[in-house]
Order: sequence, then structure tokens, then C-alpha cells
Amino acid sequence: MNVIAHLDEIFLKGGNQRMFVRRMITNLKALFPSVIVSRSESTSLWIENLGEEELDRLANIPGLSKLAPAVACENSMVEIEKLLDKMDFTGAKSFRISATRSLKKYPISSKNIEIQLGAFVARTKKLKVDLENHDVKIHVDIGRDFARVYTNIREAIGGLPTGSLGKVLCLLSGGIDSPVASYEMMKRGAEIELVHFQNQTQVTEEVSEKIFDLAKALASIQPVVKLNIVPFADIQRQIIMKIPAEYRMITSRRLMMKIAENCAKENGVLALATGDSLGQVASQTLENLNCIYSATDMLKLTPLIGRNKAEIMKIARKIGTLAISERPYEDCCSLFVAKHPQTRAKLAYVEEMESGLDLPALDKTKIISYHISIN
Ligand code: ATP
Ligand code: MG
Repeated sequence: MNVIAHLDEIFLKGGNQRMFVRRMITNLKALFPSVIVSRSESTSLWIENLGEEELDRLANIPGLSKLAPAVACENSMVEIEKLLDKMDFTGAKSFRISATRSLKKYPISSKNIEIQLGAFVARTKKLKVDLENHDVKIHVDIGRDFARVYTNIREAIGGLPTGSLGKVLCLLSGGIDSPVASYEMMKRGAEIELVHFQNQTQVTEEVSEKIFDLAKALASIQPVVKLNIVPFADIQRQIIMKIPAEYRMITSRRLMMKIAENCAKENGVLALATGDSLGQVASQTLENLNCIYSATDMLKLTPLIGRNKAEIMKIARKIGTLAISERPYEDCCSLFVAKHPQTRAKLAYVEEMESGLDLPALDKTKIISYHISIN
């Protein structure tokens, strides 16, 4: 099918518009290898040859605000009428035409296009015009070379094309939140890279498969996703030996932050992102987040900080990560969660305990990287 896709926020982008549009087109071509994409008008793209089952996925690709399967013809009234004549409006009793002209020099005004085509459809299809309560709204866009006609507009996710801003390193656990946080970053134009801290004493096929499947789901939205795996068992063993149970989670997350910072520096990353949501679990009180986030000076982004679990799950379902995240998996932290974890950690105390750890140089931590793509 062919689809008209409206670009979101593109009008805000002034001199950088071309770069944003170019990135959007590059992403679409990489993610849907069969399609031909062109800029149809200043605020929309024309996507040809999209598979029937690919429309849902297209609606989740950042940067597009609205989509509609559409048909195109020469932009003369005669050709548009021929096209309308071939369309099937079974089930509808009433309609309206909504015309727009991106070709401002077109000899007929939008109003008159609506009147003329409205009369044509009413006559040939035996439908009633109803401007307010219609069963079907027929959109006619008159462009430079073509007219496009479509009826079923659906909302798309909006935002900015992934990769049009800088790179963000997202800390990916096996949970529900962090893949959604990664998605939110992609939606604001960041290119994401992932880092997962793995307790390799617990590694089974299912564990690594889960992380890879999450990365793959995200790679259906950003063409190539780099996944960094950090073996974390040695560090965790140290933590279990030397840190009181109620502080283990905080210390562990601080060390993740430090290693993530090193990983970020090597890869030209400008910020770290996590799936933290304020107050959701014990590690996410303001006091604890303060302790965790003071572990590095790097910019930390928490796109889910104000979201409820239900909202996060809804997005996870939409992008296909929920079912993967819900597969049972003891992530490295859940293994040493204390019965009564500290909820009001004091930074000075945390730092003091941390200095007692006998850690290998964190900047020498082994990191194994993979490039994940769906095609
Ligand atoms: P999630 O559903 O993302 O796991 P959560 O509600 O379980 O979140 P925590 O387990 O406290 O919360 O983790 C908070 C955040 O810390 C995660 O969203 C993720 O960004 C980061 N994080 C936790 N564990 C890991 C890990 N093993 N590897 C990478 N990042 C992690
Ligand atoms: Mg978790």
C-alpha cells in the first residue's frame, strides 16, 4: 500500500528542517527495506510499497504524527473524480470532503474543490453530505504534481526522527521500564545505545535471549542498536561480601553508573538514561536517586520519572517489549534485594562503604558489544 505520513514538529525546526527530514527518510528506508519514500509536501512524506502488516509498526516510528493509506492521481479535477468513483464506501451513509491545497496556485479554491467533489460523490455514490456527523471523511490534498485521496487517518507516535540529535546510552535491565525509557529517548530524536549489566553466574540462555530480544524490539524502531554487555558478577560478589544488604542495590546502581560513564565516553555519548520512575520501587526515592546519580557528573535523563506503571506498561505493549520483559528472569539486582532496603540513603555513608570495596579499575571493565538490526 501507499501511505501519506505527516511529519511531527517539523515546522519548528527552521534551518535544520532538511536534516530532520533526511534522517526520517533514511530511517524509514532502513527499517522498511521494500518502501520508496519521498517528501510529498513540505510537511508530509509519501511512502510507497509498504506491506499491509507494516502499518502498525510505522505508527510507532518517531517523527510521524499521522498516517493514512492513500491513493494518488494527477491533480486535475477529472482525475480526482475518476479516482473517487473507484473508491468503495460500503457501509457509509453520509460523508464530507475536506480539501487542502499545498499547491497554492491551483486555480480552484479549497472551498470550491469541496463543493464540486462533494456534489460528485453525492450523485455517483448516493451518499448524503453531512459536514458535522458524517460516517466518512474524504481528504483530498492537492499537491504540486499529484493529488492524494485518503479516508482513514490514524494517529502516529510523533516526536522527532531517531538519530537526529546526539547519542544517549540507556541502561537496560530485564524489566518493563528501561526499554520504554529507551523508546522515549528515541522519540525525542536521540540515537540510543544500550548497556546491560549481567550477573554472569546466573546467565542462562533465556537470560541473554531476553536482553537480545529487547534490543531487537528496539531495533525495529531505530535501524541499528548497539548493545553493550558488561559482566558484573565479580563486582556483585564484592558488594555482597562488603556492603550491608539494605545498601547493596544503591551501591550496585552507583557502580553501573560509573561503568556506563566510561562506556559513554568511548562512544561519543552525551547522556545516560534510565527507566527510573519516582517512588516506584525502594531504590527510587529522591534520597536514593540522589545517591545513585551522584556517582557520575554526566547528564542523566529519566524520561519515565513522572509516569505511572500503567502508563509505562501501555507503551511497552505498543512497542512489543512488554511480553519480552514479562518473561521470568532474575536480573542481577533482584538477586540481592534486601527485605527492608534503605530508602533514605546518605551519600557520605554510601561513599565511605564504597571506598572499602576492592574493585578492579572500572575504566578497564570488559565490555562486549553487539550491533543489532532486524534486517
Ligand atoms: P526496570 O523495569 O527498567 O528494570 P525497575 O522498576 O525494575 O526498572 P530497578 O530495577 O530499580 O527498577 O532499576 C531502575 C533502572 O536502573 C532501570 O530502569 C535501568 O535503567 C537501570 N538498571 C537496573 N538494573 C540494571 C542492569 N542489570 N543493567 C542495566 N541497567 C540496569
Ligand atoms: Mg529492574
